[in-house]
Amino acid sequence: MNKPLLANSFRTGPDANGRFGTFGGRYVAETLMPLILEVEAAYKAARADDSFEAEWRRLLKDYVGRPSPLWFAERMTKHLRQSAPRGGGAQVWMKRDELNHTGAHKINAVLGQILLARRMGKKRIIAETGAGQHGVATATACALFDLPCTVFMGATDVERQQPNVFRMKLLGAEVVPVTSGAATLKDAMNEALRHWVANVTDTYYCIGTVAGPHPYPVMVRDFQSVIGEEARAQMLEATGRLPDTLVAAIGGGSNAMGLFHPFLDDASVAMLGVEAGGHGLQIEGGHAASLSGGRPGVLHGNRTYLLQDAEGQILEGHSISAGLDYPGVGPEHSWLHEIGRVKYVAATDAQALNAFQLCSRLEGIIPALEPAHALAHVMELAPTLPADHILLMNMCGRGDKDIFAVAKHLGVTL
Ligand SMILES: *Cc1c(COP(=O)(O)O)cnc(C)c1O
Repeated sequence: MNKPLLANSFRTGPDANGRFGTFGGRYVAETLMPLILEVEAAYKAARADDSFEAEWRRLLKDYVGRPSPLWFAERMTKHLRQSAPRGGGAQVWMKRDELNHTGAHKINAVLGQILLARRMGKKRIIAETGAGQHGVATATACALFDLPCTVFMGATDVERQQPNVFRMKLLGAEVVPVTSGAATLKDAMNEALRHWVANVTDTYYCIGTVAGPHPYPVMVRDFQSVIGEEARAQMLEATGRLPDTLVAAIGGGSNAMGLFHPFLDDASVAMLGVEAGGHGLQIEGGHAASLSGGRPGVLHGNRTYLLQDAEGQILEGHSISAGLDYPGVGPEHSWLHEIGRVKYVAATDAQALNAFQLCSRLEGIIPALEPAHALAHVMELAPTLPADHILLMNMCGRGDKDIFAVAKHLGVTL
């Protein structure tokens, strides 16, 4: 393993330029730079202000419903032990972030960013969204704080995600369909960045994952780290020790970064990020595994692993899960991948679909298709490990949003 950024810690990044090793940074147009610097300065000041933290914590508790529980999935554990050697098979535990208000982890970082926007005196909020989950979380927080909200969404995604489009409208947000490129998440984010430059003075751009130019990757990670901080304390309380392996799904990488970060310096804790393997990694354009199947390049203001063709054109990602088909990944993951602190694997559409159904039947928890990828890998891994091994996966979203897609894949007409 290579060296951490500073001696003895993997948790000190990024450096002053927003870099994790050779990844991250701020590759933005001159016109965007003052805005980014303003966000960075405001975030730094907010972090140093206890009242900012206190207000965010109050919202997490009373509005979101945190802390989310830590759950020992006993039936899943027993089921997977059937295919383990005698006396083997790891324990499966779940961090229940699907119980959050709005049904996923996104709200954690949205509330932090909206409080920041208020501190900065911003009068309106813009956001990008793919499947619509980040758009819904942002529209929710904007309703709560009476801020006008505009959500950029690829026209293709608007078609595919009608229930979330309607949710955002009910919450009072304006949804702008983006028709450029493939009309999906990458294009929505480009459009949001363009719009931000044109509306500098009064607008805050609320990003949905650990991507974008510095300071967004670190800021979103810091807010999402509440997941790992809680899980660490809860696991110590429940079992008297730390988990052995953490597993989380990777879209842009925010729920995974949030779970992993507080454990990065615990040498005994292994970590696995599960990317969307789609139809299989061997098929160009058939998956969304940026780390397993991509290479470094620059997109949306940072250097990171990207899905790209031989000419460096960004490829459309494919996944059964609309929340995982971002063609990039947060820069901190690229760094953790290169230094070997976190291992990245992929689960296919079919594996995720299988895990989705099994979890529903065995645990009475219908997972979102994104964490179903993490669970699919847990199902592969658990039988190969001893019975005292603790596997902790991030159940980062609930499956209500996915039942129509799943029904279609199973050939069921609703
Ligand atoms: C948006 C979303 C993801 C993907 O985003 P990350 O930044 O990788 O966490 C994963 N799971 C759920 C439930 C989501 O809504």
